[in-house]
Amino acid sequence: MFSQIDLYELFRRHLRLCGVHEGERVVVLSQGRERADYADAYLDAARSLGAKTYHMRLPRPLPSSGNWAVGASELAATPEAVEALKQADLLIDCVFLLFSPEQFAIQAAGTRVLTAVEPVELLARQFPTKEHRERVEAGAEILSKASTMRITSPHGTDVTYRLGVYPTVTEYGYTDEPGRWDHWPAAFVFTGAADDGVDGRIVLGPGDVLLPQNTYITTPVEYTIEKGFITDIRGGFDAQLIKSYMASFDDPRGFGMSHIGWGLDERAHWHGLQSPSFPGGMGMELRSIYGNVMFSTGPNNELGGPNDTACHLDIPMQGCSLFLDDEPIVIDGDVVVEEMKPARARR
Ligand code: FE
Repeated sequence: MFSQIDLYELFRRHLRLCGVHEGERVVVLSQGRERADYADAYLDAARSLGAKTYHMRLPRPLPSSGNWAVGASELAATPEAVEALKQADLLIDCVFLLFSPEQFAIQAAGTRVLTAVEPVELLARQFPTKEHRERVEAGAEILSKASTMRITSPHGTDVTYRLGVYPTVTEYGYTDEPGRWDHWPAAFVFTGAADDGVDGRIVLGPGDVLLPQNTYITTPVEYTIEKGFITDIRGGFDAQLIKSYMASFDDPRGFGMSHIGWGLDERAHWHGLQSPSFPGGMGMELRSIYGNVMFSTGPNNELGGPNDTACHLDIPMQGCSLFLDDEPIVIDGDVVVEEMKPARARR
């Protein structure tokens, strides 16, 4: 169990990594009664570092369809609140604003944004490090120069992403650069293909992970992708679940291809969802697993693209191989580029 004092110490260390210093403006955003303990601990921690700080609390969310609908935020109804958040140096987002136009506007004003919504056990276990940041940035350096990504797997995946249109994004769990967003915990890198630039087949196998469902695939699922859109999903029970979930959004843009990349945190485990100590949450451990290749479906507005559908799935896959312009990056689920490996795994 974590006490409020533990939270304070943890968040103080985290704010230091985020470069918070005397005189900075740090705003904590929360909603309803959710994560009120996080908000309190961040406020105390920010003040202890000499920052000017306050808490903005939004009304609790209205009852929803039960889906994870990304991009909709209560901030849309209060532009004056968005204007206030633009004045902050650092916004601690305890709500999950990602994919919302309000978050993008706040970042564009130079405010750095840090999402902190995962259970504290996970925040502590995958506490960000400068070493992970360096390895994620080494990956971004390579990814940002590539023009094609090809992914294969023993299950039959063979898909090609045409790159070069959208930026490369790093996630390493903290942010000390103006206008930059990050999500704690995380250690992965991604980009997106041109809007019509994904073609091929992706076959999920047992053990691959469905997020936000927080479940493991048990039966193969075969996606056919043409010109950046899923045209067919085949398989047994898991395929039916995926199709049913996606259909519930009643939005053909949900079948677009979203971000694509790989994970770099050797502290994250495939058995995370089955662990007796699984703390719940939105699956950032699984997204970060070292050597996982994560594809996703739905929006690409996070990268500057036109698709802002609310239907979004992230799918970390095991045992894949990933090539950038034919150069191997991940082979059979293992990272093969020295600069991205943990120090102890380097030659
Ligand atoms: Fe995603």
